[in-house]
Amino acid sequence: MPDIDKLNELKEYCNNHNVKLVAVSKTKSNAEILATYKAKHKIYGENKVQEMVPKYESLPRDIQWHLVGHLQRNKVKYIAPFVSLIHSMDSIRLCKEIDKQGRNAGRVQNCLIQVHIAEEETKHGFSQEDLEAFFNSDEYKSMEYVRIKGLMGIATNTGDEEQIRKEFRWLAHLHKTLKANYFSESKTFTELSMGMTNDYQIGVEEGSTMVRIGSLIFGERDIA
Ligand SMILES: *Cc1c(COP(=O)(O)O)cnc(C)c1O
Repeated sequence: MPDIDKLNELKEYCNNHNVKLVAVSKTKSNAEILATYKAKHKIYGENKVQEMVPKYESLPRDIQWHLVGHLQRNKVKYIAPFVSLIHSMDSIRLCKEIDKQGRNAGRVQNCLIQVHIAEEETKHGFSQEDLEAFFNSDEYKSMEYVRIKGLMGIATNTGDEEQIRKEFRWLAHLHKTLKANYFSESKTFTELSMGMTNDYQIGVEEGSTMVRIGSLIFGERDIA
C-alpha cells in the first residue's frame, strides 16, 4: 500500500515550491490509487494507454490523468476524450495525430514536448534542432487542437548529481529561449516537467513546475 505520510510530506514540499505533484501510479491497483485519492490527491500519471483507460473508467471522475510514457500514434484516440496532459509528445507525427484526435473528441489536448536531455540513446524526445524545425513547420502552425504547455525531460539515470543538474538546467534554459521566441504573445508555455523519485529535488532547484513521482509514494514496482 502507498505511504500516505510520504505523500503528505511531498505535497507540502511541492506546495511550498509552487510545484505540481503528479503521482505516477503505473502498475499499481485501483485500491492503491484510491488510498491516495482519499488523502486528497487528484493528479495521476500513467505510462500505458491500455492501463490508463480502465483506471479512468473505474475511478472517480475528478481525477486528472496525465500520460507520462511514450505514446504510440494508434493509441491516441483512446485517451483523447479525457486525458488532462500528455507529457510525452515526442515527434511531429505524434503531434499531428493528437491534433486529429483532439478534433474528433472536440477538445483541445494539453501537451508537453518531451526533449531528449539524457546521455542514454534510448530515451525518447526531440533534439534542439528538431524543436526549431517543429515550431517553424506548417504542421505546427496549422494545429488547432494541440496546446503546447511546456517541456518535459528525463535526466540520465545516474548517481552523478552534477550531471543531472546540468541536464535539467539546460532544459530550463531551452524553455526560456523557446518561450521568448515562440510564445511571447501567449501565457500557455509555462510548464517544465522535470524530476522523479531520485532527482525531483534537483529538478525543483532548477526550475521544475511539475514533478512525476511513483516509487516514493507507491513503493517499488515489480515491473517498470
Ligand atoms: C515511471 C515514471 C516516473 C516515475 O518514476 P519513479 O522513479 O518511480 O518516481 C516518472 N516519469 C516517467 C516518464 C515514468 O515513466
